[in-house]
Amino acid sequence: MKLILLGAPGAGKGTVAKLLTGLDGSVQISTGDILRAAVAAGTPLGKQIESLMKSGDLVSDDLIMGIMEQRLQQADCEQGFLLDGFPRTIPQAEALKKLLEKLDIKLDMVVNFNLEREVILDRLTTRRTCSNADCQAIYNVKSNPPKQEGVCDKCNSPVIQRDDETTEAISHRLETYNEKTAPLIGFYENEGLLLNVDAAGPSEVVLTAIKEKLAEAS
Ligand code: ADP
Ligand code: ZN
Repeated sequence: MKLILLGAPGAGKGTVAKLLTGLDGSVQISTGDILRAAVAAGTPLGKQIESLMKSGDLVSDDLIMGIMEQRLQQADCEQGFLLDGFPRTIPQAEALKKLLEKLDIKLDMVVNFNLEREVILDRLTTRRTCSNADCQAIYNVKSNPPKQEGVCDKCNSPVIQRDDETTEAISHRLETYNEKTAPLIGFYENEGLLLNVDAAGPSEVVLTAIKEKLAEAS
């Protein structure tokens, strides 16, 4: 399957993406994970974007498109991909449309994760992430804590609160989302690709809604 997962930070895109990869071998491509790995590795790119990411600002469209143009042409994408956190601006969506045309790739749909601001705020402040850049497993201190407090179930690395998950950075990210990313809902509605899902329930319910829609279409 070839999907875009759209929605505010904390809406559960990453969790659902991980469930979807188990279905047919499609790969999850999270631009946030790619960028955080660059910061953790201290690459020139990582150094350039570190402070910007920490404050919850977006990195430039050109930079993201450069990364994604390469990523989408890697062999593991042939089976399918789940774009998580990309595109995030109208210029990125337009550039992606051109890129997919050039690569002769057709999207199945764009899933929009709907969630109230209150719930988002609560989820983000209680979210914890594995500090291992190659793992980045996601936990929640209330709903999905690691078996041993502060230790990743999968790789035993420390589980931490992300730098951009302070209350201040979170409200900035939500503002950025409303201003820059929410307009993509209308963009993909026009393209006839949008599926709205209620992201308040368990990830499995969202997964089922996506599966049903895909089955209908095929
Ligand atoms: P979220 O939990 O907000 O969905 P992500 O892991 O997707 O977080 O992204 C974290 C940060 O990485 C963003 O706040 C932004 O700085 C940067 N980023 C990720 N994807 C993009 C993108 N497509 N365009 C610009 N910046 C991005
Ligand atoms: Zn881990």
